[in-house]
Amino acid sequence: MSASLGLFRLQQIDRQIDRARSQLDVIHRALENDIELRDALQQAETAQADHFRASNSLKNIEAESNAQKIKAQQAESSLYGGTVKNPKELQDLQKDIVSLKKHLVTLEERELDAMQILEDAEITLQTAKTNLELVQARRGNEHRKLLEDQANLTLEVERLNEERGATLAPVELGLVQIYENLRIEKRGVAICEIVDNACASCGSNLNAALMQTARSSKLAYCPSCGRILYAN
Ligand SMILES: [Zn+2]
Repeated sequence: MSASLGLFRLQQIDRQIDRARSQLDVIHRALENDIELRDALQQAETAQADHFRASNSLKNIEAESNAQKIKAQQAESSLYGGTVKNPKELQDLQKDIVSLKKHLVTLEERELDAMQILEDAEITLQTAKTNLELVQARRGNEHRKLLEDQANLTLEVERLNEERGATLAPVELGLVQIYENLRIEKRGVAICEIVDNACASCGSNLNAALMQTARSSKLAYCPSCGRILYAN
């Protein structure tokens, strides 16, 4: 068995582990930074509070307006009921009725304004609710998919780590050290195949002596890119 075979297998596993880990990072970030969902929740809460306030305010004005109407009706029935005979009292009643009705007009205007505000708040609330439901529905599916992928990838990394241990066991420790260092230096690719008498990584042509070394128990390095050569 050539010295490079064990390392070549190790690198195949390490690259799969790298891929799975970077996918896990992406999923982790996606699950954590869900700004859209947070915004939609915030908007729905604010709209709900505004709607509650508008609804209460309309109820208060309606109650005040009704009380005012009753007062005016009572004053009118006293005025026309015939029980009050005193001209001064009758005059006071008339004045009261005029002022009550005047205030009633103001109240009715405020009631109309409050109704308009409530109507607007209702539209805003409905829009916010619909938007939240849409985001949640979309998130529901996305989150399920992300969590499923996360679980699968975690299992895959565990399996690959076991496989890595088994692959690593028969390889000489000194060679593993060389491989590990070169892998950092060469951004993940420390060892490459020889294809058509050339380095598969940089394309450089290799002489017969180098290719023979690559098949031996010693390591051969590509003279151009410096990677370990593997002949299958
Ligand atoms: Zn090369």
